[in-house]
Parts: sequence; structure tokens; C-alpha cells
Amino acid sequence: MNSSQEREFRAIRVEEVAAGKFDQLLVKRHLRDLPSNPLLLRVSYSSLNYKDAMSAFGNRSITREYPHTPGIDAVGSVLEDQSGKFTPGTELLVTGYDLGMNTPGGLAEVTAVPSEWALPLPEGLSARESMALGTAGLTAALCVDRLLEAGAMPEDGEVLVSGATGGVGSIAVALLAKLGFRVAAVTGKLEAADFLAELGAWKVLDRDTLAPFANKAMAKPLWAWAVDTVGGETLFNVVKSLAYGGGVAACGMASGAQFHANVFPFILRGISLLGVDSVELPVEKKAAVWQKLAGPWYIGDKLKLIAEDISLEQAPEFLARLHRGHGIGRYVVNMA
Ligand code: NDP
Repeated sequence: MNSSQEREFRAIRVEEVAAGKFDQLLVKRHLRDLPSNPLLLRVSYSSLNYKDAMSAFGNRSITREYPHTPGIDAVGSVLEDQSGKFTPGTELLVTGYDLGMNTPGGLAEVTAVPSEWALPLPEGLSARESMALGTAGLTAALCVDRLLEAGAMPEDGEVLVSGATGGVGSIAVALLAKLGFRVAAVTGKLEAADFLAELGAWKVLDRDTLAPFANKAMAKPLWAWAVDTVGGETLFNVVKSLAYGGGVAACGMASGAQFHANVFPFILRGISLLGVDSVELPVEKKAAVWQKLAGPWYIGDKLKLIAEDISLEQAPEFLARLHRGHGIGRYVVNMA
């Protein structure tokens, strides 16, 4: 890095202030504090994802060492790229890989990453819109892709989305509705039913609707397909209540990583459990999904309802909200 090493920028820094107690502070950093990765980005927008909340509250399966700057998403312009791949001023998008996990992340005005993690901001999306979508939008789109590849069609019946008011959930609701699916949005926040209806949900159901299925080997077939962002027991309750030949795109663990299962839905109804990863996906595949989000799957009107701008100063407060499962939609961190 040959830019002035003394250049100052603002960043969120998570510190372990006592054993197991983590604080999130807005601090000044210098370019010399960043890792020696070739691509230096002036971040204009970042966003908050559940994983950032886990990192901000000391989850060591996400971030091994503190102090640390979280932020798994960033968009911004190139300050310099020592790899020669990108020219200064180009607007680039970075989501996932190690960004914000053990590499200082996007909750900072400058970040330094390997060039191969970045892709040009797709035409048709503004920098802000790309972060209104962010990893959550990419993941929701991958879930929808997975269902379509498995043969999902609107006439099959309802598609359940769990954790529907969350980042991935709300974008999945909007995308599926845009593609003509009847979406059953399952949420712990019935007070947000109008929001979900505006995104295009066909019906809004309380999270507790699924709870009685826990005592059964199988439940009545209620949905053709599903996107599960919640994991834990919810995931298998969803599997049990899918109709013959259906499948669930499983991407999340907001309620937990473990679930108890039996084989009956798989061997008696041919249900498919479709895993979705948006983090380590090759950058070319990410780019192809971003092209869909910028083109045929563009949901700009819904993003106005889903995403709210916050400042870098406000990021700690909103990370705490996500950590408690109290977030609604998406939070765009505006550093433009
Ligand atoms: P958010 O915090 O925005 O949303 C999570 C939502 O899940 C909450 O808003 C809530 O929605 C619901 N929820 C929270 N706690 C519980 C609980 N105990 N029981 C049931 N539902 C709960 O998170 P994101 O949308 O950013 O991420 C969602 C999940 O997807 C996370 O687990 C995240 O780690 C995962 N993820 C995975 C990716 C991948 O590549 N596989 C990429 C991105 C995210 P409501 O109140 O409406 O029920």
C-alpha cells in the first residue's frame, strides 16, 4: 500500500472489555492499521447482517480475535489496486468471503481486501441499492434460484418464508411475490404484518403456527416450497409440513444451529433439503446473481420499504437490535 499510511478514517471497532463482554465503539483508524491486501476501497455504504451482530457480540465461530471491525458487506470506489485488476475510481461490491469475519470489514470508511473478492457494481443498481440488498439480498436470491432449479412454479401452491421480517426473509418475500408466488410469511412480529403484505406476502402467520408440528413425525402438507432463514427446530417443522415433492432452501440459523429430524418427509414425500451458501460462492456466480437482482429480479420499489439508512455512529445500536432478533428489514450504513 503506497497511499499515505497516516490517512485517518472512521471505523467500528469491537473490543472485549471483560471476559465475554464486548463493546462496539466508533474509533479513528489509519491506513497503516489495515491488512496488506492489494485492493483499497473507499467505502460509501455498508449494511448490517445477522452475522455482523454475531461478530459484534463476540461469537468466535465468526471472529477469532478482537479488537475487530465487522461488516461482511461493502460497496465503494477503488483508491488503489496493487493487483492491477481495477482502476482507481471504479465502483466495486464486496460481500462475504472473509470480509468482516477475520479481515477488517465494511463498517469502516476504508477497507483493504484481496482483489478477487470484488466485482464491479452491476449496471442498474445504485451503490445504495446494492447495500440495501447486500449479503441478505444475495442469499435470498440464491434461495429463490435453488427453488426454481428444483422445479418450483407458482401454480404448485404456497411458499413459506420463515424469519420473514429479517433481512434475508423480507427480500425473499419480495422476490418470490415478484415472480408470482403466493408467499406465506412466518414471523415472530405480527405487528409487522402490514409491512409484509406491502412486500407482497399472500398471508402472514405467527411463528407459533409451526410449533405444534414439533410433536409429530409428519404434519399436514401445507406448503409447496419454503425458504428457511431461521434454522433450529423451525427448519424441520417446515420440512414436515411441505407437500409431496417439495423442498426448502435452508440458509439460516437465527433460532439455532441444531435440529432433530426423522427420515419420513424425505422417504414418504420426496422432500428436498436445499442448502444455500452466499459466502464462499465463486465470485463469477455471485456476479451472475447480482445481474438478476439488477435486471429481471429488480425490486427497487420494495427496497424503499425494506431498507433504512443509518449512520456509522448508529451501527452499534442497530447491531444490538439484530442480535436480539428485533430487526425489521435491512439497515444500510451510509458513509457516502
Ligand atoms: P436478521 O437478523 O435480519 O433476521 C433474522 C430474523 O429471524 C429475525 O428478524 C426474526 O424474524 C427471525 N428470528 C430471530 N430469532 C428467532 C428465533 N429465536 N426463532 C425464530 N425466528 C427468529 O438476519 P439476516 O436476515 O441477516 O440472516 C438470517 C439468517 O440467515 C441468519 O441466521 C444468518 O446467519 C443467515 N445467513 C446465511 C447466509 C448464507 O450464506 N447461508 C447469508 C446470510 C445470512 P421474524 O421476527 O420475522 O420471525
